[in-house]
Amino acid sequence: MTRKEFLKICGILGIGIPAQEILSACKTEELIPGNFKGKVVIIGAGAGGLSAGYFLKQQGIDFEILEASIIPGGRIRINTDFADFPIPLGAEWIETKTSIFSEIVNDSSVKSDIKTVSDSPDYKFVNYSWYNFFDDYIIPSVADKITYNSQVKSVDYTGEQISIKTINKEYKADKVVVSVPLKILKAGDINFIPAFPKDKLDAIKSSEIWDGFKAFFEFSEQFYEDEFETNIYDANDGQKIYYDATLGQQSSQNIIGLFTVGKPAGDFISHSESSLKEIILKELDGMFSNKATPNYKKHITQNWNKEPFIRGGYMSDYADWKTVKKLSESLRDKIYFAGGAYTDGEDWVSVHTASRSAKAAISEILKLS
Ligand SMILES: Cc1cc2nc3c(=O)[nH]c(=O)nc-3n(C[C@H](O)[C@H](O)[C@H](O)COP(=O)(O)OP(=O)(O)OC[C@H]3O[C@@H](n4cnc5c(N)ncnc54)[C@H](O)[C@@H]3O)c2cc1C
Repeated sequence: MTRKEFLKICGILGIGIPAQEILSACKTEELIPGNFKGKVVIIGAGAGGLSAGYFLKQQGIDFEILEASIIPGGRIRINTDFADFPIPLGAEWIETKTSIFSEIVNDSSVKSDIKTVSDSPDYKFVNYSWYNFFDDYIIPSVADKITYNSQVKSVDYTGEQISIKTINKEYKADKVVVSVPLKILKAGDINFIPAFPKDKLDAIKSSEIWDGFKAFFEFSEQFYEDEFETNIYDANDGQKIYYDATLGQQSSQNIIGLFTVGKPAGDFISHSESSLKEIILKELDGMFSNKATPNYKKHITQNWNKEPFIRGGYMSDYADWKTVKKLSESLRDKIYFAGGAYTDGEDWVSVHTASRSAKAAISEILKLS
């Protein structure tokens, strides 16, 4: 059982996709130093934007990251005071091989020693998280290049130099890497001048973004089986899973997680905190012979739809790979895309795919003079 239910095209070789397309989609980009010497502005400091900055730094290229919120990380955010291990409010599982860490770090002189545990077919961090990984290995290289509280409102790429405007400042760049959630582009929060071409706009418009919600409940007693995971939604328009959130953690607490995206997340995103507590406890009481409510200690929730600069969970697992590929295509050798939604039509909506897409975007820039 996996959070994703299936691997996207790299895992389902042969389903109507030409072999060459599969091979190009599944290969990892290598960064080859090129002649590009200009300035790059990256919009968004999530896994995609941070990786893009990190790869540029490795190549000695001038860049800046503009982030609308006051913290880095986007959907890899964690809570550090609820439990004796970091609670992943967004990305939790490593949905690929653990060799991905050295691939993201992209520097054989840096040795990473990250403890993980199998949660087949994925992996989980042990008292660690995706956020901790970025905080340890990626953010230190780019921290002084991030400007927070800088919501980009417009990008004018008509002239030689690109003009990027926030409410109170204009930035100039030779290339822009767009790394905001797809929902932000869908909502038209950033005014691109000229507007994106029709095929790009069609791809943005037709992509379905699932709602996203997580909750963590602590109980005084463990009334459930160790490492349980129960999928209680069986359709292609979302997922809903209750699970032992302490799997693999060296924790003294009893914590159940709720992960839900898509249609079933709709049952949670519009409720107040007190009714969420009631709804979730009632559901757990139904699953565990009324043992949840009497053992309840505390809870936290994370409603991704309410985050002003995220506004949802992630693109549907069932998106069409050709549409996904279209989302990632650069425009006029000036605007590039990096992030969970802007992949090469391989896997999408994971942290590792966000980083890989950043590598692909930077690789494309490096090839230019
Ligand atoms: C509930 C949930 C569970 C998930 N579980 C997993 C998992 O287990 N494993 C996994 O690998 N992945 C998981 N994911 C997916 C993963 O979190 C994302 O694919 C990845 O973190 C996306 O990174 P990103 O950089 O594309 O976008 P984000 O992390 O969303 O970063 C985008 C950044 O852009 C900023 N921004 C937005 N608008 C502007 C603007 N106008 N100007 C400047 N900045 C702006 C935002 O503030 C944000 O910081 C999950 C996601 C959710 C929501």
